[in-house]
Amino acid sequence: MKDTPKKLDELYAGKAKSVFKTEDADYLILEFRDDTSAFDGKQVEQLDRKGRVNNQFNAFIMTRLAEAGIETHFEKTLSATESLVKHMQMIPLECVVRNQAAGSLCRRLGVEEGADLVPPTFELFLKDDALGDPMVNESHAQTFGWASQEQISRMRELTFQVNEVLKQIFDAAGMMLVDYKLEFGVFKDRIVLGDEFSPDGCRLWDKETKEKLDKDRFRQGLGSVVESYEVVGHRLGIEFV
Ligand code: UDP
Repeated sequence: MKDTPKKLDELYAGKAKSVFKTEDADYLILEFRDDTSAFDGKQVEQLDRKGRVNNQFNAFIMTRLAEAGIETHFEKTLSATESLVKHMQMIPLECVVRNQAAGSLCRRLGVEEGADLVPPTFELFLKDDALGDPMVNESHAQTFGWASQEQISRMRELTFQVNEVLKQIFDAAGMMLVDYKLEFGVFKDRIVLGDEFSPDGCRLWDKETKEKLDKDRFRQGLGSVVESYEVVGHRLGIEFV
């Protein structure tokens, strides 16, 4: 792309990001806000600096994934809190991979938190706050038209490729990638990684102390939420502006 397309009207506002149209129909601008929500939007707070930290964290991770050959919607950062992304048709499913047991898996299956999951699990959840993002399967996805079998196979393949790349990056920086959520979209007939990768959508534990460095600090009222995201970023070599 030659020039950055100009920012136009807001297309919609999600729980933590706002999406703006641009003069180019193929591109959108994401604005990362300080709003932080949990429990399907039932707990919402403003956390100072969170928007800028997540925007820059996401830029770092998406760049590393692109270097590893995984296509993402991320084009470039435009400001401390904004990024230019490809305008995709989003698939309304969340793809979750788990390397260790935590969160809803422990509640659902009675597995002890921290248990190694070999091989890692792959789960699909429907993006629907009103329904509480229920877990769904491939048969549901086809019957209700959320994604084809071929699209799900590709999302699964890409989600596990992301796991190999990111597990190594976090491990080298002294952290465990416990689990994470990815969202995909369709751009010019290709399945492309969208949304964001930040400590809002994954679980990261210190390898030695098992300290939680992700959004569970917010969900569990542990405090120092954004400070922990910054610690993770600094360990990865990110210099936040
Ligand atoms: N996750 C997310 N958005 C959601 C649900 C889950 O980003 O709407 C992430 C969450 O941060 C964790 C992983 O997906 O890294 C697995 O979440 P889980 O199913 O354990 O749900 P939770 O315990 O967060 O309710």
